[in-house]
Amino acid sequence: MVTADELFEKLNRLRFGVEEENLRAHVEGVMPLIEEIEDLKKARNAVVLAHSYVPPTIIYSVADYVGDSYGLSKDALAASQDTIVFAAVKFMGETAKLLNPAKNVLIPGDDPGCTLADSITGEEVRALRAQYPDYTYVCYINTNADVKAECDVCVTSSNVYDIVERIENDKIFFLPDKLMGRNLIEEMTSRGVKKDIRLSEGTCYVHEEFDPDLVPRLKAAYPDLYIMAHPECRPEVVRQADYVGSTSQMFNVIKGMDVNRNYLMLTECGLISRIEAEMPGRNFVGTCQLCKYMKSNSLQGIRRVLAEPREEDFIKIDPGIMDRARACVDAMFHYAEKRS
Ligand code: SF4
Repeated sequence: MVTADELFEKLNRLRFGVEEENLRAHVEGVMPLIEEIEDLKKARNAVVLAHSYVPPTIIYSVADYVGDSYGLSKDALAASQDTIVFAAVKFMGETAKLLNPAKNVLIPGDDPGCTLADSITGEEVRALRAQYPDYTYVCYINTNADVKAECDVCVTSSNVYDIVERIENDKIFFLPDKLMGRNLIEEMTSRGVKKDIRLSEGTCYVHEEFDPDLVPRLKAAYPDLYIMAHPECRPEVVRQADYVGSTSQMFNVIKGMDVNRNYLMLTECGLISRIEAEMPGRNFVGTCQLCKYMKSNSLQGIRRVLAEPREEDFIKIDPGIMDRARACVDAMFHYAEKRS
């Protein structure tokens, strides 16, 4: 179990994400809760998975695995425990349940939605299929299980470009993120890959917020600025980035880069917090955005779902869609491993 000093040391490095005025008192205050959660994890044979965007206090105390959607899906698949507590949002818990139907998957967030996942339903995908029957339906992992059940292949921000390139059909219907979809079209063009790509209308309210005009202003102020952007940002932002990738890809790339350099990270604040805590010294300029859904996770929520779970804390997937939704996720693993 993490000690109070270890947790304090990590959180004390953060510019974003921990707002307590007296950090030492905050850490001392949460230690009994952390101890209780660790005991509950043992008693329930549970593992805690945490997305990089959840509050850092969770990441540096009770989380057993931390990462992005793709990495956490693989961790969920490999988990040997009976119970998975997924500190993230609902669609990620559903993906864990699809991969581990026999396990209990619990969601501790108070508001575990997502503007992307909630932008389209399975019924709407069926209507699109009737209208555009020749297309391969590729859904971002940020979709609910009923949508995955109606799609052919699932992708994450770390593999979307390579998987779409590898799909044999030239006609692709990509959903639900129209900004990632527009970035996908630009990337396929730059790779010389000819695809007829249709899009739906969803956006991530966090990444959509980044203003393309911010980049030249900051570049003028910091000539050595290295810009990293998530593919959920607008194409006008992504085009100006030095590197585009998922949170885990950005995290790994910056590991090998110069410490004495200025960085602009166009993604949720949680990624900057992880870099500040785990590889201190890099200077971040500009701003980042918070996801209210990811930040609705808390240590109290994790304790509650382990100690006294309510019916609605368990992820349940209609048996009528389970196999088709799972096949959509399995297709992602198939294409991700496939080399063109
Ligand atoms: S950051 Fe955006 S895509 Fe991720 S959970 Fe929040 S709203 Fe959804």
